[in-house]
Amino acid sequence: MADIIRLLPDHVANQIAAGEVVQRPASVVKELIENAIDAKASIIKLIVKDGGKSLIQVVDDGMGMSATDARLSFERHATSKITDAQDLFNLNTKGFRGEALASIAAIAHVDMQTRTENQELGTQLRIEGSKVVMQEPTVAPKGTSVAVKNLFFNIPARRNFLKSNQVELRHITDEFHRVALAHPNIGFHFFNNGFELFNLPKTNLRQRIVHVFGSKMNERLVPVEEETQVAKISGFICKPEFAKKSRGSQFFFANDRFIKSPYLHHAVMAAFEGLIKPDTVPGYFLYLQVAANSIDINIHPTKTEVKFDDENTLYAILRSAVKHALGQFNVAPALDFERDPNLDPPYAYQRKGAVMPKVTFDADFNPFEEKSGPEGVRRASQRTSAKGWENLYTGLETIASHEFQGNSVETAPTEKLFDDTDETVLHDVSTFQLRRKYIVTTIKSGLLVIDQNRAHQRVLFEQFLREMTIDEGLSQQLLFPLELNFSSEELRLLKEIEENLRSMGFSFTYRANGPLSVEGVPLSAERGDIQQLLDELIAGYREGISHGELSPAEILARTLSKALAVKNGEALAAESQLALVNGLFSCKEPMLSPFQKMTYITISESDIDKKFR
Ligand code: ADP
Ligand code: MG
Repeated sequence: MADIIRLLPDHVANQIAAGEVVQRPASVVKELIENAIDAKASIIKLIVKDGGKSLIQVVDDGMGMSATDARLSFERHATSKITDAQDLFNLNTKGFRGEALASIAAIAHVDMQTRTENQELGTQLRIEGSKVVMQEPTVAPKGTSVAVKNLFFNIPARRNFLKSNQVELRHITDEFHRVALAHPNIGFHFFNNGFELFNLPKTNLRQRIVHVFGSKMNERLVPVEEETQVAKISGFICKPEFAKKSRGSQFFFANDRFIKSPYLHHAVMAAFEGLIKPDTVPGYFLYLQVAANSIDINIHPTKTEVKFDDENTLYAILRSAVKHALGQFNVAPALDFERDPNLDPPYAYQRKGAVMPKVTFDADFNPFEEKSGPEGVRRASQRTSAKGWENLYTGLETIASHEFQGNSVETAPTEKLFDDTDETVLHDVSTFQLRRKYIVTTIKSGLLVIDQNRAHQRVLFEQFLREMTIDEGLSQQLLFPLELNFSSEELRLLKEIEENLRSMGFSFTYRANGPLSVEGVPLSAERGDIQQLLDELIAGYREGISHGELSPAEILARTLSKALAVKNGEALAAESQLALVNGLFSCKEPMLSPFQKMTYITISESDIDKKFR
C-alpha cells in the first residue's frame, strides 16, 4: 500500500487551530482587545455589527507594527511576547501563543491598519481565509486597527452554529465587561450597530465599576484591601443586603486577567456566611496580584482558568480579607434586612400532637402564640401571612375570570391527571398545610401533597404568559412614581423586553440620561421591592437569553413567577390553600413548576395500606 500520511497545508491547519481559539464573535473581541492592551494602548474602541457576525473592529492607539511585523503577525506561532519556554513562567502580557491573529485570519476577512510612532506611513493589509490579498503603505494614525468581517465565511457549519445577534452581543458584552473592569486605567468605547453602548473614561476602579453597572452600584461597594507576602488583594465587595439570587456581578482578576475560580468563590461565600439569605450570591470585584511565576495561566486554552501555586493559602487570605472588610465598614452589625419568613423557625408540628387532622390553618396562625414572643415578631408574622394570602388570591382571581372559569377541583382537568381510574378530588374537600410548605388534601385514591411554592409558581407563570399574549395584565398605578437607576446596558435590555413588561402591567417612562420612572406595576407585584424585581427580571432575561432556549416572554414569566410566588414558610389561610389547589389544576401543565420540578405527588391508599402491614 502506498504511503498515505500527508502534512496538512497551512490554511487547513490554521482553520483547525481556529476552532480552538475562536468559538464565537466574543472570542475574537477578547483576542483583539487583549492585543491592544499588550500594545500599551490608552484608548481602545470596539465596534461591532450584527452581534459581531458581520463586523468586529478594535481600534487602539498603542505601539503599532512595522510593515514586516504586520505581515508576520498573521503567521501561526508568531509572537513578540515570549522568546523561549522559560518566559511562560513569567508572563506579563495577555497573549503569548501567537495564534490568535493567524486563527482569526483563517476563518474571516481581516483588514489591518497599523503605524508605529516613528514611521511616517503606516501599513494596510487585507487577508481572506489566510491569503494575503493586499498589502500597501497608507496614511494611518499611530496604533492599530483590526477589522474582522464575515466570521466563519468559509465554515458554514460554524456560522450556522452561531446564536441570534442578541445572544452573541450578550457574550461580547460579558467579555467587554471583563477587560474593562480589569483595566480602569484604559479608556474604552463600545459601539453596536452605530450606537454607543459604553463610553468608559480612564478612571479609578470604583468609578469604572459604577460606569459599567450604573450609579446605584456606588453605595453598594465596600472596599477590600489586604497585602501579604503571598498575594495582594484589592477591590470591592457588595454589601450583603444587595446579594442576589442570580449571578452576574462576581469577578475575580489575577494579575489583571479575568479568571474563573469556584474555589476562591467559595472563600468569598464563606466570609459572607450568615450575612446573606440562602441561595443568594453577593457581588464582588476582587483583584489578586501574585508573583508572575506563582501562577500558571497555561492550563486552559481560553485562559479563564488558572492554577495558583498556593491555592489553600490564597483561600484563607481571601476569606479573611473579605471578612475584615465586612467588619471594618460596619456592614455586619448594621445588617437589618427585612424579616424573611424562610428564616422563621419552622413550625413545630409535633406540638399539635393527636389533634393534627382537624387543624385548619388561617392567616392569623402564629407559631409564637404559646410563647410570649415580642410584639414585633408577632406582627411581622401576621403581615407575612396576609401578604401571602392576597398575593395568592390575585393570581387565582385572574385565572377564574378567564377561560378556566367554572373549573374547580372536582372537574375535568383533575380527572385527566389521574386517568387510570375515575379519580376526582373529593367534594367536601378540606386541605391543610404541612410545615407551611405543603398543602395536603385527599383524593379518591389517597393523598395529594402539593408543594405550595412550586404550585404557585406554575399558576403565576401561566397567568403571566397569558397576559403577555393577550396583553391585559392588571396594573396598579403608583401614587408616587419610583425613580430607579439602571446602567445603560440594563436600560438596553429593559427596552428589549419593554413590550412584555407593559403587557404584564408595568408602566414606566425613560428620561434621557436620568433614572427610569416607574409609574405602574403588576397587581401581584404591588407590595414587592420593585427595583429588586426589575433587577431580577433583567438578570433572568440576560441569563435565559444566553442559553437561548426559551422565548423572552417565557423567561420573564418564569422569573416573575419565581419572585412573586408564595414561599415555603408562609402560612396560608384555608381559602387560599383551596384556591391554590384549584388554580394549579386549572393550569395547562399542573405537574411541573416552570423550572421543571414536580409540583405535587400522590400517595395512594394502597401505599398507605402497605405501611401498615
Ligand atoms: P500573541 O498575542 O499571542 O502574541 P497574536 O496572534 O494575538 O499573538 O498576535 C501576534 C503578534 O502581533 C503579537 O505578538 C504582537 O506583536 C502583534 N500584534 C497583534 N495585535 C497588535 C496590536 N493591536 N498592536 C501591536 N501589535 C500587535
Ligand atoms: Mg494576542
